Amino acid sequence: MKSVICDIDGVLLHNNQLIPGADKFIARLREQGNKLLCLTNYPVQTDSDLANRLGAAGIELEPHHFYTSAMATADFLKHQEGRRAYVVGEGALTHELYKNGFTITDINPEFVIVGETRSYNWDMIHRAAKFIAQGARFIATNPDTCGPSHSPACGALCAPIERITGKQPFYVGKPSAWIVRSALNHLDSHANDTIIVGDNMSTDILAGFQAGLETVLVLSGVTHQDQLEQFPFRPNHIFANAGEINVV
Ligand SMILES: [Mg+2]
Repeated sequence: MKSVICDIDGVLLHNNQLIPGADKFIARLREQGNKLLCLTNYPVQTDSDLANRLGAAGIELEPHHFYTSAMATADFLKHQEGRRAYVVGEGALTHELYKNGFTITDINPEFVIVGETRSYNWDMIHRAAKFIAQGARFIATNPDTCGPSHSPACGALCAPIERITGKQPFYVGKPSAWIVRSALNHLDSHANDTIIVGDNMSTDILAGFQAGLETVLVLSGVTHQDQLEQFPFRPNHIFANAGEINVV
């Protein structure tokens, strides 16, 4: 039986509204007993926040069904040397870092970690750039440059810091193969019997492809059929929405 790694925004929800058929898809997976992990690049909500958000839309899942780029960033960093971090982000990210033994500080940090926050400002850019210039390692939760309705996302917040320092962060989130491998570890599943479902060619499908998973694109989010021509790779399957998926 296949395991399923499933994106959230554009696949299950549009903003906070259920995408028709997504409830049926998740209910069917749970009935069949497929292992399921909802994998999102969005670093601002915790697993409980996400369970509540989906619950309000009519999809019943538990916190353990969620894995975010913030959780993955903490998992990534706990295998790296250094426990002092300067963080540009919200509680969901700092909570994961605290849980894994990190000190959040602006004194001699070994890491600069950028997620997403509405309190982003000049002083944060200045400190982040200064610490990176002094040798702190630059890590970011996800490369997305914008969220719904053109809200600035992590990649956009990293851009000025990259310009000042001339250094690029390691982006933990999709399309890194690392986050998919980490998600597979959480599921205790293997790449060759897992499918990844997503609406974004540049993150979900590329991540799945790089990690050796079967890829399923749904057209209920950011990608339209006529944009597929622009990409040098193709998903294994394409469906209008999650409710139409018949390969699992
Ligand atoms: Mg999406």
